[in-house]
Amino acid sequence: MKIMKFGGTSVGTAEAIQQTAGILVDAFHEMPDQPPVAVVSAMGGVTNLLLEHARAAADGDEDAGMRLHQKLLDRHFTALHDLVPDEHDRSALFEEIEQQIDRCTQLVESVSVLRDLSPRAEDWIVSFGERLSSVLVAGTIEALGVRSTPVASDSYLVTDGVFGGASPLMEESRRRAHETFTPLLSSRTIPVVTGFFGASEAGVVTTLGRGGSDYAATVLGALLDATEVVIWTDVDGVLSADPRLVPDARTLSTISFAEATELAYFGAKVIHPRTVQPAIEYGMAIRIRNTFNPEHPGTRMGPEPAKNGSVKAITAIGGVSVVTVEGAGLIGVAGITARVFSAIGRGGFNVYMISQASSQHSLSFAVRGEDAPAIIQLLEDEFELDLIRQRLLRIWEDPGVAIIAIVGAGMRGTPGVSGRLFMTLGDARINIVTIAQGSSELNISCVVNESEIARAVPLIHQEFGLAEGDAPGD
Ligand code: ASP
Ligand code: MG
Repeated sequence: MKIMKFGGTSVGTAEAIQQTAGILVDAFHEMPDQPPVAVVSAMGGVTNLLLEHARAAADGDEDAGMRLHQKLLDRHFTALHDLVPDEHDRSALFEEIEQQIDRCTQLVESVSVLRDLSPRAEDWIVSFGERLSSVLVAGTIEALGVRSTPVASDSYLVTDGVFGGASPLMEESRRRAHETFTPLLSSRTIPVVTGFFGASEAGVVTTLGRGGSDYAATVLGALLDATEVVIWTDVDGVLSADPRLVPDARTLSTISFAEATELAYFGAKVIHPRTVQPAIEYGMAIRIRNTFNPEHPGTRMGPEPAKNGSVKAITAIGGVSVVTVEGAGLIGVAGITARVFSAIGRGGFNVYMISQASSQHSLSFAVRGEDAPAIIQLLEDEFELDLIRQRLLRIWEDPGVAIIAIVGAGMRGTPGVSGRLFMTLGDARINIVTIAQGSSELNISCVVNESEIARAVPLIHQEFGLAEGDAPGD
């Protein structure tokens, strides 16, 4: 069973769809008895277009529906024209696409009459991006001489009905998925499935959240007992660093789920942790590959821990502030840490990293810069009495900093990794504001001035020999 998911750029233009369809047709010819199952995103930018127009309609813009109609027609008809040369086939697809667009426009027009966009209406409207792209891709495959059909995922993916962030109900979905896909595959047809959404048990369309098509693909893999899901995108795979900072960053050939999750947490555009979860639970691998460079084998993510090599990759997130709570009152007083973090938790703020010296004289943590003022306010309220009594002396913010994290499961038990990291920064006279290492030893993070990122990341990358052409560490 081959599940292949194609993102918004892979179906964003006629040329991209041609490329995507070519990959699917090649996979088909390799094993005609086991056709691949494609999962597609909307054409790049279309989901945003749908949302913008639906919101404008809710704000009373009566022409939003008509404008959307025109834009969807332009985008999909232009592509269709280039993709399907046969006039007879094209006009049938033309009609199918126009019907979908008409339906979607009607919904947007109802929104402008009601002047209200409910979460339910919004989910239904945005689902049309994928409905349209799946028709285009299936049509293109047929034009290449292989049987293919679009499959709208509300036919099999049963969700808990939470709009804008639904979760799949696996058992019910599994039964329906087998009913939907078995006959198609045994008749040598490539199903082109819409990503992004399913429907509640009552049949109401619910999306899995923005960017949810990757998740839809791993869920489908789990339902159909796939061993690997390939996510086709516009990069070769997971890189050892951001190529804008490190031009010779290397594409990693393998990475564990734990490492991928850690990298995603520290801001690398790897994969959403939610996408990984069905793969872990149902024992699949995920491979990232480049639609526009299909010769490249990509990056394979699996459950296996890294065998050798210490550091795999480096990430940096800017726009961070470090908040420090400092004072004699922290020493030996139970419960201060708990009060600090439960106050922040009540405010719904995310904390990237925490560091406390064992003297307990101060406690520092890194947060998004824009959250820092509100967090300080929360803490000042929480510790109002302590501040008056001077038990806690100060709460302050260091703005304009960045977190640099080195990630790799092989760091566990390898002595000297943090020494090399700090030596590299020290030799470059880059000041370190705070340090943290997770006890899983999967990452070491440190905070430096934001302006140092451009210098620090390439130096660390070089120190750990991560560049393309260096001995592979993965
Ligand atoms: N089209 C949806 C989005 O842009 C889902 C996806 O592409 O993953 O959020
Ligand atoms: Mg997308």
